Amino acid sequence: MDDHVVAQAIDLTKVYGDADNRVLALDHVNVEFERGQMTAIMGPSGSGKSTLMHCMAGLDQPTSGKVIVEGLEVSAMNQRQLTKLRREQIGFIFQSFNLVPTLSAEENILLPLQIAKKPIDRAWFKQVVSVVGLEHRLKHRPSQLSGGQQQRVACARAMMARPSVIFADEPTGNLDSHSSREVLGFLKQSVQQYGQSIVMVTHDPRAASYADRVLVLADGNITQDLRHPSYDRILEVFADEGNEDGDAEPNA
Ligand code: ADP
Repeated sequence: MDDHVVAQAIDLTKVYGDADNRVLALDHVNVEFERGQMTAIMGPSGSGKSTLMHCMAGLDQPTSGKVIVEGLEVSAMNQRQLTKLRREQIGFIFQSFNLVPTLSAEENILLPLQIAKKPIDRAWFKQVVSVVGLEHRLKHRPSQLSGGQQQRVACARAMMARPSVIFADEPTGNLDSHSSREVLGFLKQSVQQYGQSIVMVTHDPRAASYADRVLVLADGNITQDLRHPSYDRILEVFADEGNEDGDAEPNA
């Protein structure tokens, strides 16, 4: 695998169900995700976005084909190796934040490192916290934070272990347009300033317009591969889809 590729799907196929009720969720997908880029995956509901991301992140097992992350064949790993991969190489950001309610923001951010028994790089922690603007919220519990602040905690948590790649599943799906812009701006900054690689599933064309590249899925196939598309271009591609609202679009 070339050094500029952080993760790769080779002939990735996922079939759900049995012979009577067969769903081809991914149909021989081939794609390389580039290092230090934000790639958005778009497509109608049921097109295979979540399945692709779950297979890439080692959360779901492909039916056939290969998934490679940082040169490691994820699709050939056992549970122990997958756990290690998810702890050491992969960061996750979910639509529903997935913070531990009884822990403070700081404890949530540091939790993955503690679980993995990894040393805490305090200088990096400070930097990450400052980028997401959480300096004065570190002692707060999730219930004392707004949705946007909770997602910023989740972003900091994902970045803390310096993962090879962050998979973000509809990271702005539960946020208002202002908080969405903040979170997307932070993700973008982590790519531009720190070379973070991000793969983000989104329905929102405005969120996708922050990406360096937009892949469009339909019926388990990649049908479009757009480099730095403008917001208008993304809208054109999705002319027939319902869209959420929002503002600023950096690629416009
Ligand atoms: P998207 O994320 O684009 O909405 P998904 O990857 O969730 O699409 O789903 C792709 C297809 O696979 C859909 O037809 C969906 O119904 C089907 N599917 C997803 N997960 C399962 C499952 N656990 N069992 C059966 N079918 C599934």
